[in-house]
Amino acid sequence: MKTEFLTFDACYVRGKKDLYVAAKKLEYDPSKELLVRITRGGICGSDIHYYQHGGVGDFILKHPMVLGHEVIGETVPNDGSNPVKVAVNPGRQCNNCEYCLEGKSNQCLDMRFFGSAMRNPHVDGGFAQYVAVRADQCIPYNPAIDEDIMAFAEPLAVAIHAVNQAGTVLGKKVLVTGSGPIGALVIAACKAAGAAEIVATDLVERNRQLAIVMGATRALDPIKADLTPLRSGKGYFDVSFEASGAIPAIQGNIDLTRAGGVMVQVGMNPGMVDLPLTRMLAKEIRFVGAFRFINEFTTSVQWLEKGLVDPRPLLTSVFHFRDVVKAIELAGDKSQALKIQLSFEE
Ligand SMILES: [Zn+2]
Ligand SMILES: [Zn+2]
Repeated sequence: MKTEFLTFDACYVRGKKDLYVAAKKLEYDPSKELLVRITRGGICGSDIHYYQHGGVGDFILKHPMVLGHEVIGETVPNDGSNPVKVAVNPGRQCNNCEYCLEGKSNQCLDMRFFGSAMRNPHVDGGFAQYVAVRADQCIPYNPAIDEDIMAFAEPLAVAIHAVNQAGTVLGKKVLVTGSGPIGALVIAACKAAGAAEIVATDLVERNRQLAIVMGATRALDPIKADLTPLRSGKGYFDVSFEASGAIPAIQGNIDLTRAGGVMVQVGMNPGMVDLPLTRMLAKEIRFVGAFRFINEFTTSVQWLEKGLVDPRPLLTSVFHFRDVVKAIELAGDKSQALKIQLSFEE
């Protein structure tokens, strides 16, 4: 064990509306970890939550933490070789617990996930000029691919995992409720995976337009549109993805999903949700959660390299990381912004 130190700037969140750029002194072991110079990062809903509320659900900030988990960069080799562009998997699983050994590393009992206050001390995130990660967290990508695109590797991995949780969507009629960044990527992933028909819903007109651009067959306003025909019989959709976390959407999908169909819950709702259990039971609905991703991170990088999904319609703007407060304020304004990215190039 040979410890090295490096000091650079990083975006820290300390509590509600308390976000700032400050020096971080990184201690790492070059025999076990790779140094990655971060080039780009995407601001996610959970980052916005830490900034707006000082925590996410039960995970309350107890000390300053570097934010961010959707990052890409290039390796800093210590042997004189050329840097390699990599997408950084923000999860460092233990590879040793019962879930890791079953191949379900997203359920790891000892997960260290970038920019998460779940553990104490918290795990620093990737909105920093450098990170030190295990080699298996670095997925090399074709350097010809735009950083605008590759910085979507993490959220697209979440979307592909949701699709995998459904079993298959090939040839299926699919519903996606909520067409924000994750819902829109679920739509694109369903299209890439061969869904026959994709109906999207969102309360916001702009998000419905985005849904169409990302591959939805139709996009409906769940309040104004008449969904009765889609509920008739025992429901229309083979698979429904709930990506809004809104209670009416979660409950509504039970009637819109066919008997024997699958409901995948991707959107978070921190509260209690009433569900008509008998109706679900009688229709033999399979209700499955989708949380983060497993090997879908590598799949996501490959899909972005091949152009199977083009996430660029989701990108609202790119800010320099020193303007992180401005960037996250805009990212939190859902009427103005979808995905905001930070550039870490000086
Ligand atoms: Zn995210
Ligand atoms: Zn584990």
